[in-house]
Amino acid sequence: MSGLAKASMDWRRLASNVETLAGLTSAPLMAMVKADAYGHGVVPTARVAVEAGAARLGVATLREAWRLARMPELAEVPVLGFVYAPDQPGLAETIGAGAEIGITSLAQLDAVAVAVGRGPARVHLKADTGISRGGVAEHEWEAYCEAAAKHQSAGRIEIVGAWSHLACADEADHPANAMQKAAFERFLGTVAAAGIEPELRHLANSAALIADPETHYDLVRPGIALYGYNPVPRLPVDLKPVMELRGAVMAVKRLPAGTGISYGHTYHLERDSNVALVPLGYADGVPRAASGRAEVYLAGKRRRVLGRICMDQFVVDLGDETVRPGEPAILIGAGDHHPDADDWSEWAGTIPNDILTGIGGRVPRLWNRGLEERK
Ligand SMILES: *Cc1c(COP(=O)(O)O)cnc(C)c1O
Repeated sequence: MSGLAKASMDWRRLASNVETLAGLTSAPLMAMVKADAYGHGVVPTARVAVEAGAARLGVATLREAWRLARMPELAEVPVLGFVYAPDQPGLAETIGAGAEIGITSLAQLDAVAVAVGRGPARVHLKADTGISRGGVAEHEWEAYCEAAAKHQSAGRIEIVGAWSHLACADEADHPANAMQKAAFERFLGTVAAAGIEPELRHLANSAALIADPETHYDLVRPGIALYGYNPVPRLPVDLKPVMELRGAVMAVKRLPAGTGISYGHTYHLERDSNVALVPLGYADGVPRAASGRAEVYLAGKRRRVLGRICMDQFVVDLGDETVRPGEPAILIGAGDHHPDADDWSEWAGTIPNDILTGIGGRVPRLWNRGLEERK
């Protein structure tokens, strides 16, 4: 909760991650900064990523794309948005602001061609090569590419990219990877047969960037790795968590052995103990599903979270030690002893992307100190 919690971002770690990832490929980077840059704050993240060498920015929604496309300091940096309904208000404005648009269905292709005002819309044609999510399915590729070629000849669109997305890139040996790569090649063949010569072919997310150079083509699209988390842990990469999330102890008290802790009394104290109350909860993105397993770093060591994580607070085991109110509790940190978003995702049965994007609106994001030190 505000006042007692904050998420602090270190621009140096983000810049270092961008440089490390750039060193794994000869393709330029599209920094994926959707969902408020995975919860880190999109404006500073975009600025630092671009200064550190990212050539392009990728988001999901039109609103996110519109916002970045209108930022004067990012005027030279292309931004791609691709999650929208064909009849969604704001499409023409987003194109007008200069954003590039991902086409993921035939209906979107026609909607974009109609929405164009001055000058053609710059688009990336997406194929579904096997994720069965966004992108045009293979049986429609020919019709899709022919329609796109016609719109391009008529000056309504300019086809910048041909792209797809992988379903299982974090499992290097998964047979879907080879199938999707072969399908992507077939799609590029269909694109070429329609007379389209896109400047950018792109396929790789963070996992594919790290695990498979064959997916790099002309552009790579890392998201989670930028923020310091490696989705392919068996291939070590020197990535550093960008966010530190901390709360501050609100109160400490002593309770007798046998006392039930928090909702449902899912935990009872084994002996007389001090407990600390930390005012962050699942409304702030501390996953309730991590109850019974989670730990935080408090007063020099990792300590157990006891019982259920509540909406606005949780209880930490201090044993016989005690701390003062205000003592920081680190939930996500970059130090060796700190829990990080990988730990929380294990405790909660999810992935770090979910943990980071879930951090709630009550938690202030601070970049200032790092940004000032840069000058
Ligand atoms: C989110 C996203 C990415 C980045 O994925 P990570 O696994 O976080 O690297 C890349 N491409 C597309 C199309 C996405 O939606």
